[in-house]
Amino acid sequence: MTEGTDLDELLIAHAAGHLTEAAALVVATHLCLCRESRRRYRIYETLGGLLLEDLPPEGLAPDRRARVMAALGEDPPAVTGIDARRCDNPLPAPLAPYLPAPLSAAEWRRSGPLAELPLSLARSCRGRLRLLRLGPGAGVPSHGHAGIELTLVLEGRLRDGERVLEVGDLAIAGPAIVHAPCAGGAQGCLCLLFAQEG
Ligand code: ZN
Repeated sequence: MTEGTDLDELLIAHAAGHLTEAAALVVATHLCLCRESRRRYRIYETLGGLLLEDLPPEGLAPDRRARVMAALGEDPPAVTGIDARRCDNPLPAPLAPYLPAPLSAAEWRRSGPLAELPLSLARSCRGRLRLLRLGPGAGVPSHGHAGIELTLVLEGRLRDGERVLEVGDLAIAGPAIVHAPCAGGAQGCLCLLFAQEG
């Protein structure tokens, strides 16, 4: 498992195809929602492809240089592997294979203002993947992490310490982090959460 502790490491690992199923799903969903990450991801994809090619002694050939410069400057309309036409659905397209249909019929596990819906992973992918819904003002009890935890906001707003995460924002918490995120808006929030096992 090659999961970085910052967003760029995650994007690079995803571009290289090195993420596990759950981490790749979270990153693909994030890419569906975040224009800036799509731009950077496209750059990493392009640079990764160029590194696999034999560079001539004089450096990048003009056509390769043009491709790098194009990737650095452009904002691609779509991302490889994601059906951007479906991104206007209530939840981004990459999640569709993991969700019961209809989602309203899913059996959420409720605990006061918190509700969670576990999502199935291949047996080889260790960790917990789930949707977590927080009612207005509700918070997750203070906790640490055995491994990397990825939290992607799908609806509403999440407050994590000093940081306020909006829809599409991805929080990455490592084993050294102890926190107690809570819903930051009046309507609560919905998150996609992956907790890696240590
Ligand atoms: Zn956490």
